[in-house]
Amino acid sequence: MTDTLVLIVALVAVLIGLAVGKAWERYKLQDGRWIDRRKIRESPHYILGLNFLVSNQIDLAIEELTRAMGLDSTALEINLILGNLYRERGQVSKAIRLHQRLLQRPKLSTMEQAYVQLCLGLDYKRGGFVDRAFQSFSEVVRLDPGNQYALLNLEKIHEEQQQWQEARAIRQRITNIAPAGEKPRDQAILAFLENELGLQSVRNGAPEQAIRHFETALDLDSRTVPASLNLGDVYMMQGRTTEAIAMWEQISRTAPDRSYLAFDRLERAYGRLEGPERFVNLCRRLIDANPQDWRARLTLGQHFANRGDPTRALDLFFESLVHNPHALAVHQAIWRALTTLDFDPILVRRYVELTHDAVFYLDPHVCMRCHYRSTELLWQCPQCHEWNTFVEERIAPAEEAEEAPA
Ligand SMILES: [Zn+2]
Repeated sequence: MTDTLVLIVALVAVLIGLAVGKAWERYKLQDGRWIDRRKIRESPHYILGLNFLVSNQIDLAIEELTRAMGLDSTALEINLILGNLYRERGQVSKAIRLHQRLLQRPKLSTMEQAYVQLCLGLDYKRGGFVDRAFQSFSEVVRLDPGNQYALLNLEKIHEEQQQWQEARAIRQRITNIAPAGEKPRDQAILAFLENELGLQSVRNGAPEQAIRHFETALDLDSRTVPASLNLGDVYMMQGRTTEAIAMWEQISRTAPDRSYLAFDRLERAYGRLEGPERFVNLCRRLIDANPQDWRARLTLGQHFANRGDPTRALDLFFESLVHNPHALAVHQAIWRALTTLDFDPILVRRYVELTHDAVFYLDPHVCMRCHYRSTELLWQCPQCHEWNTFVEERIAPAEEAEEAPA
């Protein structure tokens, strides 16, 4: 909805701009008489309609804009907006009919055609007519090659159909025309698309090609964690354990908050190469670097538990719990360790005390862009389709919260 509103506001601005630029077209012959275009823009219905639009009261906006259109049914921008509002209200076929009718008007300028096509593309997309949406957005780009909305929609359609090559080509176009400030974000998205291409190569049994894609992804943005993970996996398949380890260890430098994703892989790989000491050292290093790191403590604890040292494990689990009392995985680990230790009453009491003020919640991963929540970390948001927007939400433990200023 927010995106559409932005689009509508942009449309209004552009169309008003067009109208100002062509002031001589203001007067138009209709039914044999001249009418003044300004009448519409000065009519209270038009202004009220726009106000309702901005405050998201769609039904009232439709009502007022329909009245404004009574003054001049040829006004393009009102027709466009009305169509968009029908779409927003779920009346997709009505929106499509309206926008299609607009397209049949003679004497539309190229920009006007592009905007109508864009609206039509959004209608089709909303109605689930992917092919027609694709045609409309392609037509917009033909008419207006720098149209970011159309390019973005084309990219998303390709992504939904897992046509990563095509999606990457379009993102490349977006990158080329984007202002300098947006380049890093574009590079990061290109890197994720490159990673998808690598995965595709893995599935097709082409490891060398996959390696090239993952390397390109990391060249574009070294913080593309899935590319690091996947590249290491390919190395492991090829028996290149040392290189795999180097790749996974790199994550703790490029994206320390995601380094836990490589823990299982590293533990196995270290075990294959040398003793387990190296894994213990890695976890210790991460805990020293970030005392809040509850995952490194949990993993290290599990490492000790698996090696028959539940007491040492439990200490680490308790420390982990202090830093994130809401992680179910920590509680499960504690219960397993307590079971092994025959529920020593002293340890059980300590556990109860530590959890006393904990509040549980689900779905700790949240999309920074649209606030979609997920139980697991996702690289692409299923709701807004943006790449790498998830952060882990954590409620501070009770004692930390008390220290925070009110
Ligand atoms: Zn999202």
